[in-house]
Amino acid sequence: MNTAETLKEPAADAVDIAIIGAGPVGGSLACQLAASGKKILLVDQAALPPMEHPDFDGRAYAIAAGSKRLLDEAGLWDNLPYQPCPILDIKVTDGKPGYPASPLQLQFDHRAVGDAPFGWIIEARALRIALNRQIQSAPNITLLAPAEARISFTGDAATVSVAGRIFKARLLIDASGRNSRIRAQAGIPVTRIPYRQSAVVCAIAHEKPHGGVALEHFLPGGPFAQLPMSGSDAHPHMSAIVFTDQRDLVARLALMDDARFTPEVAKRLGPHLGAIRLIGKRWTYPLSAMHAARYTAPRLALVGDSAHGIHPIAGQGLNLGLRDALAIGALIAGSDDPGAPKLLAKYQAQRRPANLAMLAATDVLDRLFSTNNPALRLMRDLGLTTVNRMPRLKRRFMLTAMGE
Ligand SMILES: Cc1cc2nc3c(=O)[nH]c(=O)nc-3n(C[C@H](O)[C@H](O)[C@H](O)COP(=O)(O)OP(=O)(O)OC[C@H]3O[C@@H](n4cnc5c(N)ncnc54)[C@H](O)[C@@H]3O)c2cc1C
Repeated sequence: MNTAETLKEPAADAVDIAIIGAGPVGGSLACQLAASGKKILLVDQAALPPMEHPDFDGRAYAIAAGSKRLLDEAGLWDNLPYQPCPILDIKVTDGKPGYPASPLQLQFDHRAVGDAPFGWIIEARALRIALNRQIQSAPNITLLAPAEARISFTGDAATVSVAGRIFKARLLIDASGRNSRIRAQAGIPVTRIPYRQSAVVCAIAHEKPHGGVALEHFLPGGPFAQLPMSGSDAHPHMSAIVFTDQRDLVARLALMDDARFTPEVAKRLGPHLGAIRLIGKRWTYPLSAMHAARYTAPRLALVGDSAHGIHPIAGQGLNLGLRDALAIGALIAGSDDPGAPKLLAKYQAQRRPANLAMLAATDVLDRLFSTNNPALRLMRDLGLTTVNRMPRLKRRFMLTAMGE
């Protein structure tokens, strides 16, 4: 082989779309686009099989009815290894740790808007297992992970150099999460909102059935959520717990053993589920919000957490990302050029205002509820009961939460 041949770049492989990041958003979108016949390159900097390990991610996602459609179209929903748990009712209460909740409450019953549940709780790990299987078995997805990609853009294509190969795609989708380097490379600025809170995530077994009711209990340190999970033989009644509190307090809670930590959960949860027991590990996530100034650049679209990160107070972060994926997937299905400037403009116009509105709503909710100010507490309790007495407004809230 002469020197010229040695230095020659390998010939480029053509794919329809390159997706960087095989997290829940990028991975699901890759499966959906592949199911519709597109040729996909999917790159992740991390290996995917270790993400199935029980110690990798303790989150349980509340998947709204509207976002479930992506998981259906991607062939993931029917392949989840554990049964998703339907959310039939949502109860919103206000209180202080260790004290009964205020009697002024807000209750949403799914029957007010139809037969379908509000959404389902699925474990992050269950989604990961289904994703890994589907990605591996899709003949038109080329998965390169773990691998680092170098990316460049020309007028009509994105070029991805990865693992000694070169790929050309008409569109590059950045699904690489909050710290996206591609977003930075494209010069897209980001607004960040730091919260002085962290979230604690764990699972509990409890004595009494949850009846499909999700609880959002507002406490001065931050919201406490109990999300109903499908039971197992070992633990017939189970729930996921996500609660936020001030960062230094959460750091202290993280150091407690289970025997000291469990009463901390019990005093925030209240007695309605009977005795509780912690199952498995606990996780701590520092919280912040962020939003990209633009969702697109030539031949580039941002989806999921690379475009927006929000407070988990309403369990909507992944839902927004799945809706981004549905929106860009539908636009791609109706176009000959998946990276056409008009298509990208439509994508941004469809998704950015909706995501910004959700970011603002979760931010205001957190600021309004994470306080002990007596005047604000009275105002919000009255607000909860007022909304509770307004069936049409409640219906609107419910449909929004369901992503309809
Ligand atoms: C405590 C907590 C609870 C939550 N609960 C809910 C909930 O109930 N419901 C809900 O809808 N949302 C929830 N969320 C939000 C949700 O977890 C996120 O919105 C979601 O994980 C975002 O998915 P993503 O695929 O966009 O990004 P990520 O999950 O961040 O995935 C990004 C992927 O990109 C890869 N990557 C990163 N950089 C590169 C690179 N340079 N090259 C290649 N690959 C790269 C990473 O390895 C990763 O696999 C919660 C969040 C928190 C913190």
